[in-house]
Amino acid sequence: MSSDSAPPAPPVSTIPNDPDDDSGTFADLGLRTELLDALGTLGYEEPTAIQRAAIPPLLAGRDLLGQAATGTGKTAAFALPLLQRLPEGQRSGAPVALVLVPTRELAVQVSEAVHRYGRDLGVRVLPIYGGQPIARQLRALDGGVDVVVATPGRALDHIARDTLRLDSLDTVVLDEADEMLDMGFAEDIEAILQHVPEQRQTVLFSATMPARIDGMARQYLRDPARIEIGRQPAPTGTAPLVRQTAYVVARAHKPAALGRVLDVEAPTAAIVFCRSREEVDRLTETMNGRGYRAEALHGGMTQEQRDRVMGRLRAGTADLLVATDVAARGLDIEQLTHVVNYDVPPAPESYVHRIGRVGRAGRQGVAITLAEPREHRMLKTIERTTGQRISIDKIPTVADLRTRRLEMTRAALHESLLEDDLEPFRVIVETLTDEFDVMEVALAAVKLAHESAGGPVDEEEDIPQVAFRADRDGRARRDGGRDGARDGRGGRPRSGDMACIFIGVGRRAGIRPQDLVGAITGETQVSGREIGSIEIADRFSLVEVPRSAANEVITRLRQSTIKGRKATVRRDREVGRDQRDG
Ligand code: AMP
Repeated sequence: MSSDSAPPAPPVSTIPNDPDDDSGTFADLGLRTELLDALGTLGYEEPTAIQRAAIPPLLAGRDLLGQAATGTGKTAAFALPLLQRLPEGQRSGAPVALVLVPTRELAVQVSEAVHRYGRDLGVRVLPIYGGQPIARQLRALDGGVDVVVATPGRALDHIARDTLRLDSLDTVVLDEADEMLDMGFAEDIEAILQHVPEQRQTVLFSATMPARIDGMARQYLRDPARIEIGRQPAPTGTAPLVRQTAYVVARAHKPAALGRVLDVEAPTAAIVFCRSREEVDRLTETMNGRGYRAEALHGGMTQEQRDRVMGRLRAGTADLLVATDVAARGLDIEQLTHVVNYDVPPAPESYVHRIGRVGRAGRQGVAITLAEPREHRMLKTIERTTGQRISIDKIPTVADLRTRRLEMTRAALHESLLEDDLEPFRVIVETLTDEFDVMEVALAAVKLAHESAGGPVDEEEDIPQVAFRADRDGRARRDGGRDGARDGRGGRPRSGDMACIFIGVGRRAGIRPQDLVGAITGETQVSGREIGSIEIADRFSLVEVPRSAANEVITRLRQSTIKGRKATVRRDREVGRDQRDG
């Protein structure tokens, strides 16, 4: 908080901000059941740090000076207490709370939040801002309103017309006060506060605390509780080996952005943090629809359900865990390489805590944050608190994806050149060079290799959603024809005496059919000719082997490595249904 001059400011309360502290629930804060029900429906599992700190003093009727940026949950921090104080039963038409905000967008957003939280209380809330026809606002005000969320200019217009009466106000909130001052609303705010009863609760939230805000607080707040987030030093030793990147992306594009980032990053296993249960469920469904093997984990699940999910992640049959902070508490997942914040976390401490799950034991981890444009400030706060830079990157484009796939093909060819098993193919090159230039022959061969490694890129992802689906549907066709063609058995229906084995490594690990054949023939009695069709997807492979040898293949492959990697190996029961390659 900024420096104090006389009279001395009250001490700043320290936010109980231990991310492992699960002692405080919304119910513990003493909120009424209508509000608890609404929060339950929204899937909020626990209060954020700012809510934990702000709600008790506000419920006790104190004024409050809070330093918090967007993304911290500050709206609920002031909205829930003012809703708690709504009179029971028949209410007069005059507003009991006024929230002043800098912009029209924020006015709408805060109104929607108040409406959602106060649903069961029948709260009447009205956003008023410049640019909207005043007649509509007049009608609404006339019909009776409990909470007005307004930009200062338009609020003042209504006060001047006597269409907004403030004499019944219990609560005034100045939200994003620093922004309002920056936009030149200081005088308007002052004028508005002249019309507000002396006996009121005043709440001021600001992302920064310049001297002007402090001055405003001294003038309008009475013995306020002071809270701020993001000033504790980062826990030491948590994040040394983690590459931290953020992508700025509009909410509507987040699922596509997540998919794109995952495609380029190719994590072994990733955890995606969401704010609420509702979001966890929605995102899990979306990502599964896009071909990822995602599992949800949230506080609404039974222990048994959670154990099952963790089992699937550990066994490698799921590669994406979508979770709330509460559900992920205490989890230690060894194979985790990536942590994704689907939103900017509500406090720097939870950011540090989340990313501390990767980069353990000397391994490199990756932390990715999808931030909405308006959450920029919170990202800065996190950087300041952790003392570590988060680089802002652009979402990989289709072109980036293509480049990355070309790189992979190049790497695979390079590897193949280093191996000394090319002789059998010399005759092909020699006969073709009678007719073509050797460069052309090489280009054709590279094209084939590239297509078989990544599939045709051209049809993909210009519109991400459509393209992902097309990719997925087209895959079986491509793979069946491609890898099976190795020995002329492509597309052959599985006969009754064959079993299909799932192996949890695929294209992304650089796996080629010969690697699988080599592993199987090297480790078991099965010969190359006995192996049936092979399908290699991005993250796994399916291989047909004689049913009689299936157990032996599974046991032996589990004990060994394929291209230096340990892989999940099991009998696959879902060929044709579980074919996902992202
Ligand atoms: P705000 O900082 O008020 O703009 O809130 C940021 C986002 O966090 C909004 O989308 C809220 O719906 C969400 N949110 C606020 N409080 C919680 C909570 N306790 N649990 C989950 N999500 C929350």
